[in-house]
Amino acid sequence: MENKIKIAVNGGIGFGSKLNSKQLMTISKYMSEEDELELTTFQQLYIEIPEDNKDEVIKEFESVGLKCYPVGNYVKSLRTCNFCKGEEREGMPVAKEINRRIAGKPVPFTLKVAYTGCIIGCGEPMLSDIGVMKYKDHYNLYVGGKAKGKDAEVGSLLKENLTPEELYDTVEKIIAVYAEMGKKRETFHKFLKRIGKEQLKS
Ligand code: SF4
Repeated sequence: MENKIKIAVNGGIGFGSKLNSKQLMTISKYMSEEDELELTTFQQLYIEIPEDNKDEVIKEFESVGLKCYPVGNYVKSLRTCNFCKGEEREGMPVAKEINRRIAGKPVPFTLKVAYTGCIIGCGEPMLSDIGVMKYKDHYNLYVGGKAKGKDAEVGSLLKENLTPEELYDTVEKIIAVYAEMGKKRETFHKFLKRIGKEQLKS
């Protein structure tokens, strides 16, 4: 029997988490009638593909606009709102750039980063490890949200009024610090409690 590897796919960042029929048909080419597709809370689908020709399959997926990411202890693809007020006004290019820079980076434990285009907050940034909220022409950055468990917690503001460049830089630095200083399988929430928000800020 051929070895399979699990990957995560989605349609990339756009107006809502959508997949078109061509993308679905391409995915189904690699599924038998008994196979299942797992829909995760990260706005990703998990699919198992043959390990031996993983690269060609990913290339084929990407040719129809699917984005492919690793599964496991990596930064997940950016969870976003639906950008209902428009691409530019709600900063979709900024969300795409954040995703390009961070998604798939190895970290001690799965890291959830969320983006929301206005203060209504449909992208749930306060319940993610790292959350970005566009406010007027700038960006506010939250850390430490925890959606799961009895000890669920709302994140708190780390920095506000950031330009896109300042935002990219800060998010990348936070992830680099976590990747370097986090203990094996230590969640970002625990890591933040251990080192403290002020140290992270500095
Ligand atoms: S957060 Fe704002 S821009 Fe994004 S979907 Fe909600 S209301 Fe629309």
